[in-house]
Amino acid sequence: MSTSPSSQKVLCVLYPDPVAGFPPRYARESLPTVARYPDGQALPSPASRDFTPGHLLGSVSAGLGLERFLVERGHRFVVTADKDGPDSVFARELVDADIVISQPFWPGYLTAERIEKAPRLRLAITAGIGSDHVDLQSAIDRNITVCEITWSNSTSVAEHAVMQMLALVRDYIPQYGWVVRGGWNIADAVSRSYDIEGMDVGVVAAGRIGLAVLRRMKPFDVRLHYTDKHRLPADTEQELGLTFHDTVESLVGVCDVVSIHCPLHPETEHMFDDALIGRMKRGSYIVNTARGKICDRDAIVRALESGQLAGYAGDVWFPQPPPGDHPWRAMPNHAMTPHTSGTSLSAQARYAAGVREILECWLDGRPIREEYLIVQGGALAGTGAHSYVEGDATGGSEGGAESASGQAG
Ligand code: NAD
Repeated sequence: MSTSPSSQKVLCVLYPDPVAGFPPRYARESLPTVARYPDGQALPSPASRDFTPGHLLGSVSAGLGLERFLVERGHRFVVTADKDGPDSVFARELVDADIVISQPFWPGYLTAERIEKAPRLRLAITAGIGSDHVDLQSAIDRNITVCEITWSNSTSVAEHAVMQMLALVRDYIPQYGWVVRGGWNIADAVSRSYDIEGMDVGVVAAGRIGLAVLRRMKPFDVRLHYTDKHRLPADTEQELGLTFHDTVESLVGVCDVVSIHCPLHPETEHMFDDALIGRMKRGSYIVNTARGKICDRDAIVRALESGQLAGYAGDVWFPQPPPGDHPWRAMPNHAMTPHTSGTSLSAQARYAAGVREILECWLDGRPIREEYLIVQGGALAGTGAHSYVEGDATGGSEGGAESASGQAG
């Protein structure tokens, strides 16, 4: 850990405000209280916070509720949504930034090239979970600390993944479409609709999110499977009736529904290619709320078109935002959302508080919680040492510059 009491420049990349204006009108007035995370980890505990939980915090005007705190302490706080390409505000402001904050939903890609142009950069905070938008190898080599808000949105994503499994198997989205179009076309609406009961459902990785998905799927009376580099405790396997597979090939061969929950790193990049999808049962479903690049983009399209996959859902794309003509927008039998699962208003309150906690620690010279660490001291650390491998998975992110603003009017 290294900190400086002097003025720091904090550069924050956030998604644009709502097209209808900021702030939005909220549907609910408060958030339920979550006392602790499921494994007992404490929620973020900053000394104070300058935002209302349940409000939109992740867009530019909200600035994660950090501005007052940073400015009062004499630091510079720059917030932008303009993040892609060499002339973007992000690229220009990065050259003298000490700290970068970015959300995976609207990632400020920190490639080796960009890190090289940021000689003062010492800390990269992921406001959320999943730090693959940072070239972790460069961060290791340059002794940059990378950290994320572990657990902050894991349950949020697990809920989204379960929703999307059901949406695919029951074929919910087209049925909704018939209603909106004024129809009552029962036969059309059910011709691809099944019950999930009795199916084999598997997760690729049973970390915080994967295990939460398994727990939530248990009451659906399905057979549950998982693969992971780290095997779960025997009593957890027994409690949930889990079948462990030591390879992903073994898992996909028996499952009807596969939900992906491993981080993106060099071992998982393009894991779901033509060969692996070809090992799945014909008519299987994939839900991917982990990272878009864990799947081979065009292999997914081919499998949906041929019927090898009956459906594909998730909320992660590559690059982000994806261009208007990204083939996943138009492929058959998908139920994709933009990258929203981990940025519900509930999740935002937790990760905004977590970012504040990390900044307070860093600026006061106190250690950052071990579980928040991905890279520290020139090596993978904390959660990073458990869940990542060394190397870089940012290749191709410069394609983001070709995307439109990502906002439809
Ligand atoms: P976690 O660290 O608790 O779990 C990750 C698990 O992946 C670990 O159990 C690890 O052993 C396993 N793993 C790593 N490499 C593997 C491999 N090659 N094969 C099999 N298993 C492997 O993290 P988490 O909170 O469960 O989050 C997982 C990922 O989900 C994040 O890294 C991120 O990419 C993604 N995520 C997405 C969103 C979203 O909004 N869509 C939000 C949060 C996290």
